[in-house]
Amino acid sequence: MVKVYYDADANLELLNGKKIAVLGYGSQGHAQAQSLKDSGLDVVVGLRKDSARWAKAEADGLQVAIVPEACAQADVIQILLPDEIQGRVYAEEIEPYLTEGKALMFSHGFNIHFGQIVPPKNVDVFLVAPKSPGHLVRRMYAEGKGVPGLVAVHQDYTGRAKDIALAYAKGIGCTKAGVFETSFKEETETDLFGEQAVLCGGVSELIKAGFDTLVEAGYAPEMAYFECLHELKLIVDLIYEGGLSRMRYSVSNTAEYGDYMIGPRIITEETRQEMRYVLQEIQDGTFARNWMLENQVKGPQFNAIRKMEQEHQIEEVGAELRRMMPWLKK
Ligand code: NDP
Ligand code: MG
Ligand code: MG
Repeated sequence: MVKVYYDADANLELLNGKKIAVLGYGSQGHAQAQSLKDSGLDVVVGLRKDSARWAKAEADGLQVAIVPEACAQADVIQILLPDEIQGRVYAEEIEPYLTEGKALMFSHGFNIHFGQIVPPKNVDVFLVAPKSPGHLVRRMYAEGKGVPGLVAVHQDYTGRAKDIALAYAKGIGCTKAGVFETSFKEETETDLFGEQAVLCGGVSELIKAGFDTLVEAGYAPEMAYFECLHELKLIVDLIYEGGLSRMRYSVSNTAEYGDYMIGPRIITEETRQEMRYVLQEIQDGTFARNWMLENQVKGPQFNAIRKMEQEHQIEEVGAELRRMMPWLKK
């Protein structure tokens, strides 16, 4: 069984007298920095000079500095920058200040696992990853609760890496819900697989394939949008709250029968085999190499596909229909 840590397993005092640099003030950065500060810890937010978020972080009561200055002051450096730029920022603005005994940390293992960042041997390296988007991390903390998280140690120089990681997890509320022990390899590979095969890649293609099939057969795009995209939220909410069983309990018996009979004809053995290949390409570094190379040449394929996808008919119909839904945020 996987080990789970709670409040009683974590000692916040390990971070007393230490300075924590939270680099980035985006989804995770703003949530983690504010919660650490509210836990009584000494936090500096590291940003670039021209960041639009600088004033925001200061307005939230945080000390802000440019990345190298934040790293020079800090004992613990949490990198919450976009994954694809971490390697470059690390080499130029973090590594020079990563002196003996400091801790380098992450909320995603990509750069360590795939060797884009190779820290010196004389520092601790670990990750604390909330299993939720930043705004929910912050909201749960503010309500005196927390979201579940992951903890993993890559390098334990001080002999206290895991204890410091757990103290940090406590500082953002995660030990209230439970913190699961994992490794950089497991966190990185399962995260990439989940977003590619199921959450982002799988779901997007499934929606488009359903939509295209109905539209090709002459049905109204509006109807296709409602059936194949809009209603997904209802289904996902039910699954999220009570698993597949809750969803199947809630839908009609006709829908449930269709689910059992037809689902396996959509996700076929061939699809499952392809998922195994996708996992292999994550494990052997093929995906990471492609993504890093794509970034090195400034993302021509990424940008072209992004544009094409934004112009798909489902996006045009959807924009029209969502205007009729006053409860949606602009
Ligand atoms: P965001 O894109 O939301 O925020 C990135 C931050 O980095 C911004 O504050 C941006 O500020 C800053 N930034 C970008 N480039 C630079 C630079 N060159 N120098 C200094 N600052 C820079 O990132 P996320 O919070 O989504 O992701 C951060 C990490 O957390 C990633 O490792 C991600 O995998 C992980 N994670 C994210 C989750 C999520 O819910 N989003 C969940 C779990 C983990 P500005 O542009 O204003 O300069
Ligand atoms: Mg991810
Ligand atoms: Mg229906």
